[in-house]
Amino acid sequence: MSQIQQSDITITKDGRVFISFLWDDLYSLTCLEKETCDIRPVHWKIPEVLNFEDKTEYKKCSLCPKECGFDRVRYAHPSCGDSKLRVSNVGISFGDEPLVHGLGGSGCIMLSGCPLTCPSCHNPEKVSHGKETTTLEFLRICQGLLENGAENIQILSPTVHIPVLINNLKILKEAKFPLPIIMKSSGYESVVQIKKFDGLVDFWLPDFKFGPCSEWGKKAGVSDYFEMAKESLKVMVEQVGIENVLVRHVLAPLPEREREIILDFLNASGLSFSLSDTFVVLE
Ligand code: SF4
Repeated sequence: MSQIQQSDITITKDGRVFISFLWDDLYSLTCLEKETCDIRPVHWKIPEVLNFEDKTEYKKCSLCPKECGFDRVRYAHPSCGDSKLRVSNVGISFGDEPLVHGLGGSGCIMLSGCPLTCPSCHNPEKVSHGKETTTLEFLRICQGLLENGAENIQILSPTVHIPVLINNLKILKEAKFPLPIIMKSSGYESVVQIKKFDGLVDFWLPDFKFGPCSEWGKKAGVSDYFEMAKESLKVMVEQVGIENVLVRHVLAPLPEREREIILDFLNASGLSFSLSDTFVVLE
């Protein structure tokens, strides 16, 4: 399996971004088409499972704080997609903080669909497209990442897939899957939904993107981002402990005052946080 690398992100002043941080050729390199991978022997056997078919929560969707009620069973939401679990990319990443990637790399499963429409999204093509993935295929992906030396399973962009993820993570935990589960969140999460991950997630990796009254937050369609992100962070900390939450603030070109408010909050919170400065603003 090739390794995902994290490239610098180039962003224009109006928020358009040119480089994606996950390479394109990784999906075909996973173990999806095979019964097992034989790269490294592991002592974990995929349990027999049924595919997740309960569409109740997708019928009148309230999976993110917008609670818009869209019927994702009948139609595909423009940014969140339909009711199927869709995986856009899989691979071993060394692009995260050392705490996350360790020696073997983080086993990333990037899902498609996101309620945010950030102009600075660095993976728009990944967010909009994804391969329908059954529960068994999801477990095979986890097994493949385990066999390829991943230190953990990192699920990126989980929000619009929470019901099926809860189902799949319960199966992993009940079958004693040996790697910790990291959930990489945009930070814009529903408290009610985050509580459902209790006992299923070992480490939260949320973004903290926007301050109050943020023009960028409005462009992303989440003018209440600051309040919602603060609330969901509280629940993440209660769930896994403050030592198992790492907040990321990407140094996108926000107004200075907004940045100060975000950093004041993070400094006062006692949380570990990292500042990513991979943005390059084109003139
Ligand atoms: S996840 Fe998407 S469809 Fe569901 S409530 Fe949020 S914006 Fe609406």
